[in-house]
Amino acid sequence: MAALDGLPPLRDVIARHGLDAKKALGQNFLLDLNLTQKVARTAGSLEGVTVFEVGPGPGGLTRAILALGAKKVIAVERDPRCLPALAEVAEHYPGRLEVIEGDALKADFESMAPEGPVKIIANLPYNVGTQLLVNWLLPRQWPPFWQSLTLMFQKEVGQRIVANEDDNHYGRLGVLCGWRTESHMAFDVPPQAFTPPPKVTSTVVHLTPRLNPLPCDPDKLEKVTMAAFGQRRKMLRQSLKPVGGEALLAKAEIDPKRRAETLSVEEFCRLANLL
Ligand code: SAM
Repeated sequence: MAALDGLPPLRDVIARHGLDAKKALGQNFLLDLNLTQKVARTAGSLEGVTVFEVGPGPGGLTRAILALGAKKVIAVERDPRCLPALAEVAEHYPGRLEVIEGDALKADFESMAPEGPVKIIANLPYNVGTQLLVNWLLPRQWPPFWQSLTLMFQKEVGQRIVANEDDNHYGRLGVLCGWRTESHMAFDVPPQAFTPPPKVTSTVVHLTPRLNPLPCDPDKLEKVTMAAFGQRRKMLRQSLKPVGGEALLAKAEIDPKRRAETLSVEEFCRLANLL
């Protein structure tokens, strides 16, 4: 389709720069500029906002974010083959796109964050997506440096992020996300929307920080949820044995016969605070 920003269609960009998708880098590109705009719009107004993007690839989502008025995009891309294509986008939007070549897992986003509002928007590489999300959820300082996260995941991961108790997808990720954020799945994206198509449906998840999450030490919360969900079919008196078992549950006034997936985030925080 013709690009609204006057830049060449992404298919041409990919062909010209020889960006054959590499599976090891989780490269499933979005070439439909309507769709990249829909992802970027899910983040709300971008006027005056600095956006961190992970894995811009050939720049489809980056272009949508810039076209929607972001003050600046700081993008971290691991694949050096993408840099010339991104340089063309940077030239089209002078001073508004900074590309950092490197591994986003090693990037210190917080220290790169400028003054003013920051949002994170990304079509994440599936192999590192969950770890990046966890890193963004675990800074000691809260509320964090970002105002929102708008992230594409495999649908199954999206379901785990937004899950509440008594949901089959509820687990460690759901507790962590539910503790510090409010989240929802915005819309699904079918495999054929990507080049090459992945095997599964994807989904865009939008998360915003809770301004006053229950006071809780993230390390202790992790300890409790790891024990509880490590043996999710067992009763808590069994699964929580390594962290205090029946005595801990009694102090927290939680029935030891319950299973991990029935506990609310508030109850997990109560247990963590009693460790
Ligand atoms: N944003 C583009 C789009 O929507 O079409 C590309 C998304 S593709 C799913 C994931 C991108 O992340 C690829 O460009 C890949 O090279 C990059 N990537 C993979 N692992 C990375 C890492 N550890 N750090 C930064 N970028 C990474």
